[in-house]
Formats: sequence, C-alpha cells, structure tokens
Amino acid sequence: MKGKEIVQTIRQKMKDHHSLFERAIPLIASENITSKEVREATLCDFSHRYAEGWPGERVYAGCQYIDDVEFICMDLAKEIFKADFADVRPTSGVVANLVLYSAFSKPGDISMSISIPNGGHISTGPLMTSKGAFMGGTAGAVRGLNVKYIPSDRKRLMIDVEKAEEAIKELKPKLLHFGASVFLFPHPIKELAPVAKDLGATVTYDAAHVSGLIACGYFQDPLNEGAEAMAFSTHKTMFGPQHGCVVATSDKEEFYDKIKRATFPGMTSNHHLHNVAALAIALAEIKEFGKDYGGQIIKNSYALAKALEEEGFTVCGKENGYTKSHTLLVDISSLQEKAGLGKDIEEDLEKADIILNRNLLPWDMFEGRNYLNPGGIRMGVSEVTRLGMKEGEMKEIANLIRCVVIDREDIKKVVKDVNNFRKDYQQLHYCFSSNEDAYKYIEIVK
Ligand SMILES: *Cc1c(COP(=O)(O)O)cnc(C)c1O
Repeated sequence: MKGKEIVQTIRQKMKDHHSLFERAIPLIASENITSKEVREATLCDFSHRYAEGWPGERVYAGCQYIDDVEFICMDLAKEIFKADFADVRPTSGVVANLVLYSAFSKPGDISMSISIPNGGHISTGPLMTSKGAFMGGTAGAVRGLNVKYIPSDRKRLMIDVEKAEEAIKELKPKLLHFGASVFLFPHPIKELAPVAKDLGATVTYDAAHVSGLIACGYFQDPLNEGAEAMAFSTHKTMFGPQHGCVVATSDKEEFYDKIKRATFPGMTSNHHLHNVAALAIALAEIKEFGKDYGGQIIKNSYALAKALEEEGFTVCGKENGYTKSHTLLVDISSLQEKAGLGKDIEEDLEKADIILNRNLLPWDMFEGRNYLNPGGIRMGVSEVTRLGMKEGEMKEIANLIRCVVIDREDIKKVVKDVNNFRKDYQQLHYCFSSNEDAYKYIEIVK
C-alpha cells in the first residue's frame, strides 16, 4: 500500500469501526461515548498548538483563547469536585497518577495501592519481572516506588479495613493511593486516611473509573472523606475525551505547587489542548445532566446484575448488592465445561456484537487460572446508559448474554437480535444538543 491508498484504507477502517459501535452493545467498563460538542472540540486548531506552563504564565505566544478555555475548565473541575485546586493538563489517567507519584514521593519510597487481582490498575503496581524481562507497574517501573498492597477481603471484593490498618502502621508508606479498575464498592478512606496521615503519608485517590459518578454526587466523595488529591481519567464514567486531571484540597503549604511542577515540566510538554476544550464542555454537561445520568447508572448496574443472576449467572458481590458503581464482575468459572473461560466467552460475545472484557477474579490465581483466560468477565453500564437505556433494557441485555454463553444459541441468530435491539438506541442522552446518530462518522473530507 502507498500514498492515497493508505489514506483510503485508514478512513475505511475508521468508518467500519463506527458502524460496529452503531450496531453493538458496548459494555466495556472503562469506555463511554462523547457528545457532538465534545467531538467537535477535539477537531479544532488547539490540537496543533503548544501552551507550556500555567495559563496566563505561558512560555509560548498565541495562547490567549487557549488560556481562557483552560481557566474555565479548571474552574468547572474545582466546582464539580468541590476542590480548591485543579490541574487539567495531565494527558491521561496514568499521567495523572504519575503526577501524584512525583509530587508526593521519591524513588524508593513505599507506596500502598490495591493489587491487580483485587481490582487494582497496572499504573499503581510494582515493577514486576517475568522470564527475566522487566514489566510495568508504572508506580514501580517508572517512579521507582516500592509498592506494597493494601490488604483486601478477596471474597467480598473490598479492602480489609483491620488488616489494612495494621499494614499501614507496619509499613509507614509515604503514599497511600486508593482506587481501582474493578471498583464495585467505595474505599474506606475515612477509616484509613487518618492512620496513614499520622505516620507522614500523603493520601491520594485514583478515580479513573468513578470520576463521573463522584462528579454527579454518587459513589463516594474522596476529598471530603480524607484524600488530599485525586487523579483521574475523563472518559470512563465521565463525558470527556481521553484525557486526565488532578484535583486537590489541602491545608499544607506548597501542596498545589508540587502538583503544578510535577505536571509541567515533570510529566507533560504539550498537554493536548483540544482535549482541555473538550473536557470543559464535558464538565458543563456533567454539571447540567449529572444527577440524572449518575442516578440511572446506579439503577442500571444493579438491574443488570440482578437480571444476569436471574438468567443463571454468578454475579460477584451479591451480599452487598452486587455493586455501588457502574461496574459489575461476573464469575463464569463454573461455566468452563460448557462455555470455556473469560477469553473464550469474551470472544464468543464479540462475535455476537456484545463487547465486554475478560477479567481476573481475586481468587483466580489460587484456582490455577491466570489473566489470559481468567474466571471473570467485567461489564460497565456507562455507555448504554448514555444511549438512553434503562432497567428494562438491562433485562434484555442479560438475556442476550445468556443466549450466547449459557444456551449456546447460534451466534448468527443472536447477532441479528443484538443489532435489532440496538436500532432503537442511536441517540445520545444527557447532553445539550439532540445527538441523532451518536456514532456517526464525522466526515470533513468529501
Ligand atoms: C483506566 C485506569 C487508569 C488509566 O487511565 P488512562 O486514562 O487510560 O491512562 C488509571 N487508573 C485506573 C484505576 C484505571 O482504571
């Protein structure tokens, strides 16, 4: 392939991707879809520019409108997260975490976070070695932190508060970093933050998954419960483009300056200015529509969990109501003979245009399974909620999943049912403009 042919091929692939998501059921817990206004912002000329430094104090010319936008974005972030400080420059959730690591720890310091089998994210993990090769864990591999795990109650998918308190007292970490990627239940910040702070730790929170829920007043309120800074992605439960953010409230002098310097010149040079504009619009959408959206997410995730249980699945966390977030974790290990494990089930569902991901269960490794073909599947309801689906639709989704995984129905038949079901949900909700054709490919070149 060369020249124009490459361009045509890439454009066709992008269009094909759009039509896949037009007809599929999108259940990846870390994904969402943006409004037309947000998408338009990501296409503007901001994407060609540099604006290093803090707005109003840039070391580049031509930034006057960019500065205005960034100030509006910061003000909205502060207001929505009830924070005294916001830095909207980190370009992703991982970068936002790195900002916190470098602001509040030194290489070699002990940090504590949730382990990956218990739902933690790779960016909060230690340096690992496998067959002689080094692998991230960003916290360990990039910042050189000595990462220890916050003890978890595996069966209940929660932090074990008593054991965690003991571990904090023993390890005296410099950083206690809450947050997770399989984030079903709030973390015990109120209980553990004072213990860690008394021993000299900074308490931080990774809200990559749940920032949208926190913004809407659901889940928990980390800065109010004792976390001093919160890092997050802006595109999972939030309405933003792929970007990052740090918000903070602290009575320590210098606290905010440390974050600013860690972001620039620490972790960024250009900070994806088009995404700052898009984030400001997304925050305005959250402010306007967040209460309704967040409320419906909580209803939908419970409804989907309950419906899956009724269809014969084992949904984790039942004794605590399955989930308090947008995410559910389903234990499919007992279906192994019939349907295989996480990888097999993920692939079968993908053939039926139901898009979700395999996920390690906290107890998988003790039962001889690993992350490549684990005993769990994870789903999130953010995107389907934004498409206007409610509790009734969750029942239909659970039934379609059963048809594939348990009833082993002909995939060709199920995919038709899935595409039919999706036909009625092409419009985006919880946004200012009516978004007919939410997945429409925006064509500039005719
Ligand atoms: C997704 C996720 C991240 C990474 O966010 P990106 O925006 O993809 O860099 C960090 N932490 C947690 C807990 C996550 O789930």
